[in-house]
Amino acid sequence: MTNWFEDVAELTHKGQIKVPYTWSVGEVGSRFLVALRDQKRILGNRCGQCRTVFVPPRNRCGKCFGEIHEWIELGDEGIVTAHTIVRYNHPIQPTPTPFAYAIVKLDGADVGFIHIIKEDLGRLKNGVRVKARFSESRRGHILDIDSFTII
Ligand SMILES: [Zn+2]
Repeated sequence: MTNWFEDVAELTHKGQIKVPYTWSVGEVGSRFLVALRDQKRILGNRCGQCRTVFVPPRNRCGKCFGEIHEWIELGDEGIVTAHTIVRYNHPIQPTPTPFAYAIVKLDGADVGFIHIIKEDLGRLKNGVRVKARFSESRRGHILDIDSFTII
């Protein structure tokens, strides 16, 4: 008795599936997103060992691996430290082009916060000061901050 693949070459085809899913953002992520949604506040947290302030907040320090328990409220303004302008529309992008992805060092934070800038792109450069603009309709999502605007 022979197996079929001994008589004929096995063919394969590549495919792609799209799988909707839901995942928990956990205690730290929930605290952060609920504060955005309900109070328009940007929360960070500070490592108990090396004192680094993270935003978005995290469970454990990415620098020294210390546990993080101290919550702090950050300002809604900061400085752009890096950016790139997106001009190619694609369904995966959060908003129609042109817009910019920017790393914003929020006042009081030690790490960059990645978000978007939609307007005034001609004035955008590293070092400009920006302010968070909150969405009118918030749902506990990173886009409860609609975008940052150049001050
Ligand atoms: Zn640390």
